[in-house]
Amino acid sequence: MLTRKLFLLLSPVILFACAEESTEMSAPTPQPAMVDLTTQTVPDQGFVINNARILDGMGGVIENGSLVVQGNRIVAVNEGESMVEGALEIDAEGRTVMPGFIDAHRHIITGEDPEAWMAEDAEDAMQAFLEAGFTTVLSAGDAPQILDLRRMTAENEIAGPRIIAASFTGLAAGGGGGGPEGDPARFDVARPPMRPTEPATALPEEAVRGQIQALYDRGYDAAKNVIIVTPDGPEEAALNMIVEETNRLGIRTITHAVTVTDTLAAVRADVDQLVHTPHIEMLTEEQAQFIADSGIPMTSTLGIFVPFFDENNEPIFRDYLPFPWETILSAGQGPVNARLLWEAGVVLGFGTDTRYDPELTLNHELKSLYLVFSEQDILQIMGENAAINIAMEDELGTLEAGKLADIVLVNGDPLDDLFDLLNVEVVIKDGAFMVDNR
Ligand SMILES: [Zn+2]
Repeated sequence: MLTRKLFLLLSPVILFACAEESTEMSAPTPQPAMVDLTTQTVPDQGFVINNARILDGMGGVIENGSLVVQGNRIVAVNEGESMVEGALEIDAEGRTVMPGFIDAHRHIITGEDPEAWMAEDAEDAMQAFLEAGFTTVLSAGDAPQILDLRRMTAENEIAGPRIIAASFTGLAAGGGGGGPEGDPARFDVARPPMRPTEPATALPEEAVRGQIQALYDRGYDAAKNVIIVTPDGPEEAALNMIVEETNRLGIRTITHAVTVTDTLAAVRADVDQLVHTPHIEMLTEEQAQFIADSGIPMTSTLGIFVPFFDENNEPIFRDYLPFPWETILSAGQGPVNARLLWEAGVVLGFGTDTRYDPELTLNHELKSLYLVFSEQDILQIMGENAAINIAMEDELGTLEAGKLADIVLVNGDPLDDLFDLLNVEVVIKDGAFMVDNR
């Protein structure tokens, strides 16, 4: 609905841009050779990116194309050159132009002291996301300071990606998580043999429903929960209540489910986003079809159980500690299930669930996806599908007239070499130049 309205508002502008293009009646403002775009003032007429290889985020490729941006919106995507009188012209010199990257499952604030992190580390951490090409990040659980950070990046008080913030909610007394201190993925009680064999204690209904109103009142965009179904336990009923509440308030329910059993329960409850690919238990084709047919998007996070390597070539986990070998089956089961779900038609979107440096995280998730997905698949996963995962497909994830101008310029061609995605040189968020490393 919003998109339709924007299209109507923008249609004169689109016509204007196209008319200028066809008549070529006046020269654009030439871009001085290699001026750092982040220091440039964008004129009211906006800017044009010419000489670009455009990958539109939904499978389309324009070998030599151009893009017109006015304000914070893309107003035209064309084959060949575009000319708009008075606009700043940027020569992409054959670079690949793509939608800004989206990580649909991240954790952002690190360390024991969130206030200190905000004061000392936030600026660099936010810049690192932009440098790696990420213009939008979903925080699936962070200290409450994430709400300040969301506002600061939205208002450009700190240069950083657009943030969507989810707050944690419980499905049962004790929270449905637990285990020893440390990275929950390392000690995951969803994983047999640690999986509970007794029903968890139910929370009172008012407590289940009340936590949604409370996080809504604090300004969160989504309610995050972890589902580990216990035998005859209260989890699925609680999740049904949470979905009712979030639907009533117009926010989203996002669910962490890592086994097939738990994923099926989340699908029955009709949550809005599954923030992991199930990586424990093998899916049957029927189960994959049931999940896909629900239309609920799923976030990849395949890299979690694939070892990182430290400077001594020691395999480590995402918490920087030695790799927990009792989880290694998930390194294969996750990608296998992801591909089965993809074949069934699930909308798999890019997400990492790490606290690592964003470029390292991107590299790692690409490596994990690449086992079972083609370059073309992965560009779909990073583009339109990632936007669907965060319910922003009307605004982000593709290069189309009417979308927000979140754009990256990449040196190379990721369709030819996937890891060219690590060569992000220019980053535009909301029509503003955030990074220029050409
Ligand atoms: Zn997470």
